[in-house]
Amino acid sequence: MKGLMQDWPLLVPKIIDHSAQYYGDREVVTRSIEGPIHRTNYAQIHSRARKVAKALTKHGIRLGDRVGTLAWNTWRHLEAWYGIVGIGAIYHTINPRLFPDQIAYIANHAEDRVIFVDMTFVPILEKIADQLKTVERFVILTDAAHMPKTALKNAVAYEDFIGAVDDDFAWSTFDENTACGLCYTSGTTGNPKGVLYSHRSNVLHALAGNCADAIGLKNVDTILPVVPMFHANAWSIAFAAPMVGAKIVNPGMKLDGPSIYELLETEKVTISAAVPTVWLMLLQHMESNNLKLSTLKRVTIGGSACPQSMIETFEYKYGVEVMHAWGMTEQNPIGTMAMMKAGMENLSREDRVKVKLKQGRPIFTVEMKIVDDAGKELPRDGKAFARLMVRGPAIASGYMKGEGGKDLDTGDVATLDPHGFMQITDRAKDVIKSGGEWISSIDIENMAVGHPAVAEAAVIGIAHPKWDERPLLICILKKDAKTTREDVLKYLDGKIAKWWMPDDVVFVDEIPHTATGKIQKTALREQFKSYKLPSAAA
Ligand code: ADP
Repeated sequence: MKGLMQDWPLLVPKIIDHSAQYYGDREVVTRSIEGPIHRTNYAQIHSRARKVAKALTKHGIRLGDRVGTLAWNTWRHLEAWYGIVGIGAIYHTINPRLFPDQIAYIANHAEDRVIFVDMTFVPILEKIADQLKTVERFVILTDAAHMPKTALKNAVAYEDFIGAVDDDFAWSTFDENTACGLCYTSGTTGNPKGVLYSHRSNVLHALAGNCADAIGLKNVDTILPVVPMFHANAWSIAFAAPMVGAKIVNPGMKLDGPSIYELLETEKVTISAAVPTVWLMLLQHMESNNLKLSTLKRVTIGGSACPQSMIETFEYKYGVEVMHAWGMTEQNPIGTMAMMKAGMENLSREDRVKVKLKQGRPIFTVEMKIVDDAGKELPRDGKAFARLMVRGPAIASGYMKGEGGKDLDTGDVATLDPHGFMQITDRAKDVIKSGGEWISSIDIENMAVGHPAVAEAAVIGIAHPKWDERPLLICILKKDAKTTREDVLKYLDGKIAKWWMPDDVVFVDEIPHTATGKIQKTALREQFKSYKLPSAAA
């Protein structure tokens, strides 16, 4: 027997309809690419998104067509997303930090017909314009007054593009499993792979992400998504915030410590989300200028492991709750969040931090297990670590024009504990194999950045004649700080297992990062490929 409820497909435009109807005057503030702070609201975004939809339709864009966006978090980017999906076309976020050739590869692979692009990225596209086989038109996200001179095909200023039509437009309707968004993973090995979100997965994920034990946005919240819309759906914030009418503060292109701090304070932000490197810049700026946070209550930290010292500084120095999250492009993207559970109220500070250091419990709709190389499930005892497999309705079942499988192999190695908390010990390709055992590079990095002189740390395996591989710790020092190899090793002593102790420590000026802000271990391994450990020479 079928339930007798109305058939209301879970379509993304329903979200912006809802926010325009009930929270129309709620603000969306942006540090514009042109410079000044720009203010709009959900009613205007709704109206202008319908203009985007109408203009795209006028230019022949139809259900299933891909429309690229190469843009920072701004109100125009948000309007473009809703306008694109409102006609059943697919927003394809392109990460501007990728190499130009990779951008050309993914735009061709996706067969983008139109690209919406910020003025700052026009030069990137000009360089590869002759490689872009399918793009018919470029919409520059600015007005006529700021329109750069460009030879890009059919280039038009966004304000002129949408200014040529009115907002009298009804969203298309279609099946909720229709493709909605496309985002390529950075593909540290091989070509990038396209993850194709559906309307249903985006809506379900925004609902799950808005549970109180996840990001849990409320109407009274003001959220500053530092995480870019081109990085795994901006962790769903572009859907979750309008769903409840939370105010959004878009940072535009300025993600440095002083710029983020200024917005947090002037716009009275209550919650924010970013990768650890961004928080590092903010905390360093606050520490060197003796600044406080007056309204910020919660920060979501994910994309890479959140170091212990960052949790302690946010929570105990600034009174800001840390919500450590793990996810991936293939998952819409949130998988787990480390929120306290009933029964944990009386934990000591030390034990509380230990819980937060884990990546957390799965949000609703995410199922997970760890399996060994033979595919056998290992116990949830907090000790066994193995490959993490996930499944659920907001998890990729395959890649654009590519392979798929039932359970997604995350490529991460993790433990699962009896309380349901997952902890990443490494990416499968980054674990250090020493004497047949695995050493977690993440654990050592987390500990090393607790040293008062260390700003950032990376651990890689270096070939060793006896042990196969041994860990090398690579550190960047804080500005004007000094320390020695011996001092760092002494600091680690007792904090990690003896046989995990790095065999050497080196200090560098720079650690390379990937397009999504992670430490680029492949580049480090290349850089240190002829490095001889002192222990290997002995
Ligand atoms: P990329 O394109 O760089 O792979 P993703 O955002 O999809 O971008 O990366 C997902 C991966 O990032 C995860 O599989 C995991 O290895 C890592 N990751 C994400 N969040 C965390 C976290 N909180 N702790 C440790 N690793 C994380």
